[in-house]
Amino acid sequence: MQEANQIVAKVLTTLKKSVDIGITTWELDKIAEDFCYRLKAKPAFKGYRGFPASLCLSINEEVVHGIPSRKKKLKKGDIVSIDFGVCFKNYFGDSAVTLPVGNVSEDVAKLVAVTKESLNRGIEKVVVGNRIGDISRAIQEYVEGHGFSVVRQFVGHGIGTALHEAPEIPNFYEGERTSRLLPGMVLAIEPMVNMGTHKVKVLRDGWTVVTSDKKPSAHFEHSVAVTENGPLILSSREN
Ligand code: MG
Ligand code: MG
Repeated sequence: MQEANQIVAKVLTTLKKSVDIGITTWELDKIAEDFCYRLKAKPAFKGYRGFPASLCLSINEEVVHGIPSRKKKLKKGDIVSIDFGVCFKNYFGDSAVTLPVGNVSEDVAKLVAVTKESLNRGIEKVVVGNRIGDISRAIQEYVEGHGFSVVRQFVGHGIGTALHEAPEIPNFYEGERTSRLLPGMVLAIEPMVNMGTHKVKVLRDGWTVVTSDKKPSAHFEHSVAVTENGPLILSSREN
C-alpha cells in the first residue's frame, strides 16, 4: 500500500509544478494519467461508477469530484483541489491536495491552511486504541475553531484492496460509538472544509459537488496506516 500511495504522491508532486494560470483541468488530468501509466499503476477513479477521468479537479466552490474539462482554465486567485488515486499490485492509494493559483485572497489562503492543518490534527489521533470518532472530533474542532465548516455529506474511508472500505471516517463527531483503531488498518482521512455553510449539492453532471452558498471549499487527504508506533502516512510527500 505504501508503493501504491507513493505513486499517488509522485503524481501529486508533478501536478503541483504544473498548476498555473491558464492551464486547463483537462491538461492536468492528461499529465496525471500519462505519468501514472508510466509508473505501471492504474488510475483508480477512471471508470469508477462511470467517472470519466483520472483526477478529480475541483475549483473554488467545487468541493470534490469535479470533472476535468478542456473548457476549464485555471485563473489567478482560484484554488484547485486535486484528488488522485491508483491501484498498484491490487492495492489502492488515495490522496488529495488543494493549491492556490497565483496569489489568492487572505481569507482563501487561510481556508487552505486550516484545512491542511485539520488533516494533521486528525492524523495525530491515529493511535491504536483510539476511535474513529477521535479523528473526526479533532478535525471538526480545529476547523470550527477557525470559523469554517466541515462537509457532512461526504466522508473519509478505509482503503485497501478496494478504494472505499469500511469504516467511514466523518470529519464531524457523531458520538462515542465508532470503530476502535487496530494495527494494520489503513484510513483515507480527508477533511472537506467550507468557508461558509457546510451544506453542499451535486451539480447536474451527476458528479461535481459544490457548496450551497457558492463560497470556496478546500480538501486535503492522506492514506494513513495504523501502527503500534503511531500513524504512518503512506502517501507522504516532501512538499
Ligand atoms: Mg481521494
Ligand atoms: Mg478518498
